[in-house]
Amino acid sequence: KNNDSSQPEFIQAVEEVLLSLKPALDRHPEYEENKILERLIEPERQIIFRVPWLDDNGQIQVNRGFRVQFNSAIGPYKGGLRFHPSVNLGIIKFLGFEQILKNSLTGLSIGGGKGGSNFDPKGKSEKEIMKFCQSFITELYRHLGQSVDVPAGDIGVGAREIGYLFGQYKRIKNEFEAGVLTGKGLKYGGSLARKEATGFGLIYFVREMLKANNDSFENKTVIISGSGNVAIYACMKAQEYGANVVAMSDSKGYIFDPDGIKIDTVQQIKEVERKRISEYVKYHPEAEYVDNQRKLWDLKCDIALPCAAQNDIHLENAEKLVENGCFVIGEGANMPCTNEAMSYFLEKNILLAPAKAANAGGVATSALEMAQNSMRLSWTFEEVNKKLDEIMVNIFKEVSEAAEEYGVPGNYVAGANIAGFIKVAEAMMSLGIV
Ligand code: NDP
Repeated sequence: KNNDSSQPEFIQAVEEVLLSLKPALDRHPEYEENKILERLIEPERQIIFRVPWLDDNGQIQVNRGFRVQFNSAIGPYKGGLRFHPSVNLGIIKFLGFEQILKNSLTGLSIGGGKGGSNFDPKGKSEKEIMKFCQSFITELYRHLGQSVDVPAGDIGVGAREIGYLFGQYKRIKNEFEAGVLTGKGLKYGGSLARKEATGFGLIYFVREMLKANNDSFENKTVIISGSGNVAIYACMKAQEYGANVVAMSDSKGYIFDPDGIKIDTVQQIKEVERKRISEYVKYHPEAEYVDNQRKLWDLKCDIALPCAAQNDIHLENAEKLVENGCFVIGEGANMPCTNEAMSYFLEKNILLAPAKAANAGGVATSALEMAQNSMRLSWTFEEVNKKLDEIMVNIFKEVSEAAEEYGVPGNYVAGANIAGFIKVAEAMMSLGIV
């Protein structure tokens, strides 16, 4: 009814949630009376703005910036910024909508939001990246604040970009408001273990899910899509737990290394040189590079961790994975499975760790970064990592208990949606019609 049909990713995210909420809605008719769902799917505020900047040739470039402030019932808007040519309002809305329930699951006081731009960082110089970030935040700054809206990174936005955004924000405001952005560098208010948090958190969640089913990562064959922030640290932690990670990808192709991915090489290529994953075979000629990223899902594995982008695993990929013996899916990326693929996995009793719960470690650690900023002190890596682990253990517990309580035991997808939703719904009711 709101003409959102041109936003397929947003519709997909909403459909997936609404279908699984039925048991909760049946038990709580007051949610319907208070129009909680209608209010939940309508963002509180959507900001769209022009981002003009000068490239290295002195030419004017123009991009579009977005920030969707979706829901602040349980805390200030919180969610990352994505810089990727595919970004549009529908993508930001799907991410913002999922963020509401994810942030609720962390048990911390953070509402849901998301933003970004259709700016393509690939092939841009350092100077161009800085100029773009400065222009972007020069408009967005007026809508942010440590108790208002706190962005972080996502695809195409890491510590480098957050540094440039924070530098310009600080200059405009004439104030060192550290808590306004998270994912900051360690020298100016960042948190240890934030970089690792989403990937590590994913593995902690999957570890708990395996444990609940009397299993572990030990000697499991794992494949991971993506080779960015989430993928790298998921690989590292899975290997630490005794898994054999045999493949990783980027948006072009994948590498297959049957003896196990050498993650320090991937870090050198992706984090330092910012090159393509195909470079890996230059360091390790025994590995294979396949110039077709979609074929990754044809590989045989026990555990698949999609950590790249949305709609990465289609129904046919899901069928192939199951046929090849894969029995665990851990969603590091947001909405990496289509709804058809997700239903298929559930039908086949595959252990499915849904993104809202499984990748919540990143935003949870962002909230820990905000807490450290407020106290003007820094915790050690071990302290932050321990808190992250405890948070992920709690999220798994909450999710599996909700699944049990609402009659869908083992369905962690429904469990995550229900547990995340109830807390937000209750808060919205307490706050009145706002
Ligand atoms: P990065 O930019 O660090 O890495 C993204 C990776 O995914 C790259 O390897 C990239 O390849 C690949 N990729 C991007 N788009 C596509 C595509 N359309 N098809 C195939 N591969 C693609 O991002 P992050 O690791 O931070 O984010 C990955 C996912 O995790 C996203 O879904 C994000 O929303 C989610 N997430 C991230 C969090 C965080 O803390 N960073 C927190 C929670 C969720 P290439 O290098 O070729 O572009």
